[in-house]
Amino acid sequence: MISLGIESTAHTFGCGIISDKGKIYANVTDAYRTESGGIHPSEARKHHENAKDKVAEDALGIANLKLSDIDLISFSQGPGLSPCLLVGMAKAKELAKKLNVPLVGVNHCIAHLEIGKLMTKAKDPVLLYPSGANTQIIAYEAGKYRVFGETLDQGVGNFIDSFARYIGLGFPGGPKIEKLALDGKNYIELPYVVKGMDVSFSGILTNLKQKYGSKKYPVEDLAFSLQETVFAMLVEVSERAMAHTGKKELVLGGGVACNKRLQQMCRIMCEERNAKFSVPPNEVLVDNGLMIAWLGIVQRKQAAKNYDRIDIRPYERTDDVLVDWR
Ligand code: AMP
Ligand code: MG
Repeated sequence: MISLGIESTAHTFGCGIISDKGKIYANVTDAYRTESGGIHPSEARKHHENAKDKVAEDALGIANLKLSDIDLISFSQGPGLSPCLLVGMAKAKELAKKLNVPLVGVNHCIAHLEIGKLMTKAKDPVLLYPSGANTQIIAYEAGKYRVFGETLDQGVGNFIDSFARYIGLGFPGGPKIEKLALDGKNYIELPYVVKGMDVSFSGILTNLKQKYGSKKYPVEDLAFSLQETVFAMLVEVSERAMAHTGKKELVLGGGVACNKRLQQMCRIMCEERNAKFSVPPNEVLVDNGLMIAWLGIVQRKQAAKNYDRIDIRPYERTDDVLVDWR
């Protein structure tokens, strides 16, 4: 069985193709970027409208498959920006109708976890999922992927992007902050905000803006301190989730997980508690269609041809989804 998956929750329009054996055929993405400012939902929608046909065609071309080779279509149902989600769903429905194959909508956050399991061979991991809009620590317990900790305000990626934007860097800011941080020499104390199992970034953002505005601190030191502080928060909560659940594997997912310093901090924590740490390749850490195609396979029992009854779910939470495939 071959599945084609479409991702369009935010900045990226992606199309991936994978078989039920996990054979990867293609993973094509086209991301909306800006020189200054963040994601404007209606601009991102326009980007996706323009990109969707070519991305799907390119994926089939790279896979060396005909459209008629596809047995199943899946798409990101949520969480995400409605204008963007609607473009992905429309493309998915167009293809499913043309082929007369089943269609299934899937949860973007769970897709990160399932592709992480496939690619790292982890069996029952805790997932640290730091991305643009989302920041969650997720693990399976009693029929659902439970959220053991999460951000109380913005996602860590949006937080980093906001600070990057404030100091005049474009979107996405994460890689630029990572580069600046390499030249940081001194740790500048910042608020460290862990509440129970949750984290919060908006106060740290205000504090960073004030410090930047005071012109007393080199921007490299601010970038370095930002990373050291918020990554320590994420690692702390992940470790506590592992201790609580007794799970022995940590997997990363989400765009911020591309950050080498975050990976290093997670690795150290796992080594210290004799746990296995794995990072899937960057192409599935960022938003992508491959993980959507794979979750389509995983949830194929729910796929259906009553296309008109399938809709987007912009506010769907990880723990709303009944996990009946484990
Ligand atoms: P996603 O929402 O999962 O596609 O992830 C996008 C987010 O990942 C954006 O906020 C980026 O700034 C962030 N990001 C990408 N690469 C890095 C990196 N190397 N370090 C930190 N953040 C990153
Ligand atoms: Mg994501």
